[in-house]
Amino acid sequence: MSNFVWCHGPICHKSHTQDRIRGVKGSKVLRTKKVTLPRPEYINMYSYFCSQGCYNDFANKHVREVIAIAPRTEALETPINVTKEQSTGWSGHIYMQTKITTVDNNGG
Ligand SMILES: [Zn+2]
Repeated sequence: MSNFVWCHGPICHKSHTQDRIRGVKGSKVLRTKKVTLPRPEYINMYSYFCSQGCYNDFANKHVREVIAIAPRTEALETPINVTKEQSTGWSGHIYMQTKITTVDNNGG
C-alpha cells in the first residue's frame, strides 16, 4: 500500500525548483511534488501538501466548496459564568481578575 499522495496545491507544478524537474533532456517537466502521508492518527489538513504555500493556494482556490461542507449560518454560544476574583500580583499588589467558567449543561 502506498503511503504517499501528490501535493494538492493547484500550482505546485509551476514552482521553479530543482526537486520538481523530471524527464529526459528535451522533454523536461516540472512535476507536482510527492508527499509522504504520516501514520493515520497523525494525518491533518497539512498532510496533503508539500508546503504551507501549496496549502494556502488550495484553501484560497476552494474556500467556497470547503465552507459549503459545514456552513455556519448562525452564531454559536457557550454558556458561561463570569465572576470577579481578587488576586495578588508578583509584587504583592492586589487586583481584580475576571474569571470565565463554562457552564455544564449536560446535567453536571
Ligand atoms: Zn506543493
